[in-house]
Amino acid sequence: MDNILNEALVEGIKVSNGGSVATYIPELAKGDPKDVGFAMMDLEGNLFTRGEYLKRFTLQSITKVISLLLALEDNGMEEVFRYVHMEPTGDPFNSIMSFEVKNPEKPFNPMINAGAMVVTSLIKGEGKKEKISRILEFTSLLTGNEKTVYDEKVYLSEKETGDRNRSLAYFMKSTGIMKGNPEETLDLYFMQCSILGNCLDIATIGAVLAGNGIHPVTGERVLKKENARIVKTIMTTCGMYDASGEFAVSCGIPAKSGVGGGILGAVPGRYGIGTFGPTLDRKGNSTAGIRIMEYLSKKLDLSIF
Ligand code: GLU
Repeated sequence: MDNILNEALVEGIKVSNGGSVATYIPELAKGDPKDVGFAMMDLEGNLFTRGEYLKRFTLQSITKVISLLLALEDNGMEEVFRYVHMEPTGDPFNSIMSFEVKNPEKPFNPMINAGAMVVTSLIKGEGKKEKISRILEFTSLLTGNEKTVYDEKVYLSEKETGDRNRSLAYFMKSTGIMKGNPEETLDLYFMQCSILGNCLDIATIGAVLAGNGIHPVTGERVLKKENARIVKTIMTTCGMYDASGEFAVSCGIPAKSGVGGGILGAVPGRYGIGTFGPTLDRKGNSTAGIRIMEYLSKKLDLSIF
């Protein structure tokens, strides 16, 4: 096992200069390609780590998994999927054209920005303050890390430059699928995307999902089994942007990536995996993270297919 973990890190480092850090959110452009690491947790809470696994980064789209889980726990499956489909798109995560032209009545899935914003708007709570507190507390429940916070600078950077997301939110207001005040939902979404975490945190969330909702460290049930199942399925079909099909073939692990450079993986019945490497490929996935996941999958036979 030690050799496999060492090699996985070497593989990740090899390709971490092969992409570029996200620049469309100016704060993310400060990521250092040398920061590569990963954590893997089994269902008893045993931990396997290498590299910069404690380095914190903003979870970005990985929080779409968290908000979907919370919305499902709050409202149930039927209600959530009245507002969002569960179909992969084959289009970029922030595409406006495909949404309006192909399927304007509701977003394709909860892992693209439009779908995630609708899902976030369904989270229960009085106003923005209570809702963000609930998202942070729920993240802490899943990670076991009591001090979940969001990065104020990244949040403000996104708020300042998030015109594409603003367009999507107002488009959804115009069609009637987004209820309430779009500015409030956008703000909440930007805060949510800026939540800070490390590989250990996301590996733990992965292990909760891998264990059908049982927390690997406390042994407590923190999610309904059904909700863990739904989210793992959607991660498999939609979690790696428009590279989800290729990733299913090359790796076969239900996963969700974020433009902050993290990838959360859940290997049913076996492991949660969290990887980090800030440089991204053209689809928006961490180059190092993909390589590490593929290497671990091959060597430890982790593909679900
Ligand atoms: N906050 C980012 C956005 O909305 C999240 C994108 C991502 O990680 O895929 O553009």
